[in-house]
Amino acid sequence: MSDAQEWTPHYAERMRGMHASEIRELLKVIAQPGVISFAGGIPDPALFPKAAIRQAYDAILSDDVQAAAALQYSISEGDPDLRAWIVGHMRAQGVECTADNILITSGSQQALEFLGKLFLSPGDTALVTAPTYLGALQAFAPSQPVFDELDLAGRTRTAASYAEAAGGRVSFAYVVPDFANPTGQTLDIAEREELLTLAAELQMPIIEDSPYSALRFEGQHQPSLQSLDIAYCGSIERSRVVSCGSFSKIFTPGLRVGWVCAATSIITKLGLIKQSSDLNSPAINQRVMLHLARTVWDEQVARSCDSYRAKRDVMLSLMAQTLPEGSRWSEPEGGMFVWVTLPDGMDAAAILPRAVAYYGIAFVPGHAFHADGRGRNTMRLSFSLPSTDDIVEGMRRLQAALR
Ligand code: PMP
Repeated sequence: MSDAQEWTPHYAERMRGMHASEIRELLKVIAQPGVISFAGGIPDPALFPKAAIRQAYDAILSDDVQAAAALQYSISEGDPDLRAWIVGHMRAQGVECTADNILITSGSQQALEFLGKLFLSPGDTALVTAPTYLGALQAFAPSQPVFDELDLAGRTRTAASYAEAAGGRVSFAYVVPDFANPTGQTLDIAEREELLTLAAELQMPIIEDSPYSALRFEGQHQPSLQSLDIAYCGSIERSRVVSCGSFSKIFTPGLRVGWVCAATSIITKLGLIKQSSDLNSPAINQRVMLHLARTVWDEQVARSCDSYRAKRDVMLSLMAQTLPEGSRWSEPEGGMFVWVTLPDGMDAAAILPRAVAYYGIAFVPGHAFHADGRGRNTMRLSFSLPSTDDIVEGMRRLQAALR
């Protein structure tokens, strides 16, 4: 078994859908000194609340009772106090729920994987936008679904056409409604209502993935799909919407704490999946997140918005002069991403290796976010990580690379 090739017959069927992510491979290459990266959609480490994190770990570890619990195995659904905080957070957004509606996960990425396990059998259809979050495609892939395109903007398809393409039943629709990864765009109220109507017609769950929703720099807040659905149907127990939240983009992705909010019966099933997967998310990290959420949530949201707004402004101000004529780009009101559509015929993936090697600038080619590999002339630019000076220099390099 010295050659990797020989292992292939031994792998389970589900591994067929799992391929190395181009982006993750790319992130390894671009982490070279001198390369300015618009690639990784990751928080700025300068914003991590390090002092509050250290204080929280110290407080827990210097108290024998707290330390004993925080370093122990704990319940699969998650820390009761953290779930109570999340209940308050969700209620403030119009999602009336209790701790029984919350499951803590190791980042919202784990929530996506669990929801794939819960809802998808091989050959089932999942509706995803094109483009969509690459990590969701990866999380669902082991369940071997068929991806069909959820077309909210084009409004070209009826419920019947989705059902027919799926051979009768659609398993769910997955959306990132706020400052989406990768487009930066936000669904307006009409699109949200249309999606809820479609879900009712198809009797399908909606997975609402909202890790960026608190990062709104300006403009009008849009009600979550879950809050709208609860207003229509009267209770989270009757709602079709399963929402995923995360502390990663506000505090730090390093502690790996996210959550799912859904009807109790769904949370019960997800609890079983959680148990079989990793028993529980690290108890100590949940306690630290609780401390951060109670003490510095508002402050962190404000700091992050101020920082990312300034970076977005610089990037957007240079868009027209950087990109070739005929290009289009999104103008996000929050989050971390700008989505670029280059003129037809340009191929972002083909440009990237030269852009990194000769110009020291990286981005993510847009086809990676399409289930069917379309979008060759698109790319995602993230403004969250580089400094404003690096964004100016990066846009100069990007202009040269695209020329
Ligand atoms: N959903 C979306 C849309 C994301 O962009 C990300 C992070 N890139 C995640 C989920 C996963 O985040 P985490 O697991 O850190 O909560």
